[in-house]
Amino acid sequence: TIVLTGATGQLGRLTLDELLTRGVAAADILATGRSAEKLAELKPLGVRTAQLDYSDPASLDAAFAGADVLLFVSGSEVGQRVPQHTAVIDAAVRAGVGHVVYTSAPHADSTSLILAPEHAVTEKALADSGLSVTVLRNNWYHENYGQALAQASQTGVYLASTGTGRVASAARADYAAALAAVATQPQVRGRVYELSGDVAWDGDDFAAAATQALGRPVVYRSVSSDEHAKILTTAGLPEQLIGFLVALDANIAAGDLADATDDLRTLIGRPTTPLVDGLRALATQIA
Ligand code: NDP
Repeated sequence: TIVLTGATGQLGRLTLDELLTRGVAAADILATGRSAEKLAELKPLGVRTAQLDYSDPASLDAAFAGADVLLFVSGSEVGQRVPQHTAVIDAAVRAGVGHVVYTSAPHADSTSLILAPEHAVTEKALADSGLSVTVLRNNWYHENYGQALAQASQTGVYLASTGTGRVASAARADYAAALAAVATQPQVRGRVYELSGDVAWDGDDFAAAATQALGRPVVYRSVSSDEHAKILTTAGLPEQLIGFLVALDANIAAGDLADATDDLRTLIGRPTTPLVDGLRALATQIA
């Protein structure tokens, strides 16, 4: 059995599609998540489903029994993930899971990326667990830029405090294909992959891609961290979110997401989705 966590989320949903496309029998997939409603929506795919919470060990034990492969999608509650992920790993050990695939962050053990520490702790716990493990260190999703694109379509401006920093993003579907590739190909397991888009783009490149995707001119306006924080404050964003967003842009300016590798394209056997295609898909969702 392949057990997938986060199946009720966006990456997980795409991963289910990829597993089925690769010929995995639906009955051999156990799709899990917290939301019973979203699990019910997966029933038409024919996969088995189970409700599971990273904070509820009994639900983990029940779901992981008999798992050959656990596709462990990192949780979305930043700040809660160390205890949650530790519980997942402990349960995987108890269940004797054959192989665990974990979605991490670029250079998780050496980066200054503010989201990385929880991933680094999780990677260490996995390494210490004795489990057979593959780590997929995922760079950014193109889909993270929906809001930025919507704003650019209104204002003609892509505003960021990323300086000349680059982002090697790829489409969520590309990362989903990598999860499915590791689930179905034992020979690629046991490594730490730095998964990224084939191309690392900067603010000017983003503006050019947005111009194409929107069919209207967009320019990159590069601002300092301080100016960025002021603009977001004027826009009425909560202080904590502003701190988070500005810190992430500083990480990007420092090059924390700039590493474009061949790992993702090699695993999935095709080029990654270009940024402009990702933005075109997002543009269709803008009213
Ligand atoms: P989503 O928010 O769409 O999905 C998150 C999934 O995690 C949901 O299925 C959710 O279940 C599940 N989940 C969260 N907390 C728990 C928990 N305590 N117990 C069990 N399941 C839990 O995120 P994406 O699919 O877009 O991304 C997947 C992961 O990748 C994120 O969780 C995050 O760690 C990371 N990420 C990476 C980004 C990047 O650019 N590389 C950007 C954003 C996130 P349910 O909905 O049923 O509660």
